[in-house]
Amino acid sequence: MKIGIVGSGLVGSTAAYALVMQGIGRRIVLVDLNEARARAEADDILHAVPFAHPMQVSAGSYGDLAGSRVVIITAGVSQRPGETRLQLLERNAAVFRQVVPQILNNAPEALLVVATNPVDVMTHLTAHYAAEFGVPSTRVIGSGTTLDTARFRTLLGAHFGVDPHHVHGYVVGEHGDSEVLTWSLVAVGGTSLEDFCRLTDICFDEETRQTIDERVRKAAYNIIAGKGATYYGVGGALARIVDVVMHDQRAILTVCTPLPAIADVKDITVSLPHLVGGDGVLATLPLALNEDEAAALNASAQLIRDVIDALETSDTADK
Ligand code: ADP
Repeated sequence: MKIGIVGSGLVGSTAAYALVMQGIGRRIVLVDLNEARARAEADDILHAVPFAHPMQVSAGSYGDLAGSRVVIITAGVSQRPGETRLQLLERNAAVFRQVVPQILNNAPEALLVVATNPVDVMTHLTAHYAAEFGVPSTRVIGSGTTLDTARFRTLLGAHFGVDPHHVHGYVVGEHGDSEVLTWSLVAVGGTSLEDFCRLTDICFDEETRQTIDERVRKAAYNIIAGKGATYYGVGGALARIVDVVMHDQRAILTVCTPLPAIADVKDITVSLPHLVGGDGVLATLPLALNEDEAAALNASAQLIRDVIDALETSDTADK
């Protein structure tokens, strides 16, 4: 099965490498404005194939995306000196205005997986542009807080000495500063955090909670400070999303997709736990958040809605 990746920069090529290492799909096509970069990345990744799984990896044009089951979009431009976040977003919106129709003209059946940041806004835009091709929003998935949730579970697992697969807790809302860690719902093997602490005598105080919260929320800042960019974690998350879709695994993932409303905010895209399978987003899980968490999710959704509104206003002003 073919997987397309549009944008073969650090995130796109790392996702391709993660797919090869795990043997997900049979053919990967890398498309990039910078064709030389796409060719170089494709060759480099192809040379890892003999050490992993049989896979064709090549650079190509939009036409080569025909028949793709999934297309990952990681294309984007980076911030220019003195440029505001809104100006950067306007330029990335222009990239997506071009890229999404080109993908769907060639691969109308493809499910779209978006990773370009700010991922909530870019996923919202992708769904908007894809709707013009009759693609339902359930077939547009943003990586959202998939990685943040994994970080949360990893840190909780490490603290308790439990395999993170058996620690549950979600990060919802914006993939960014306003994201919400659902502390009130954390469960270890089905046991609440409080009960697990009591049973095992493992201390879990406010300081530990704040440290974990901070490490999840600020993870990207710390990585960027140390090495300039983040790509392994998100590349792994993208491979996982593609695997879930290609094998109809029906996993619960905190991806983002446009929803009619989240709390008081209408027509909005931020992450919540979703049931994901072969047809994309199959269902959204309502969460019994406590009052503070619900207010924080509402604020996070409003923040993204405000950015989308600002973008729509500037778009209208341009015309
Ligand atoms: P990241 O770290 O998010 O992967 P990069 O800057 O490394 O960011 O990669 C973004 C990639 O997107 C670059 O390789 C760039 O050439 C590509 N890109 C930018 N605009 C377009 C476009 N219109 N079509 C296809 N690819 C694009």
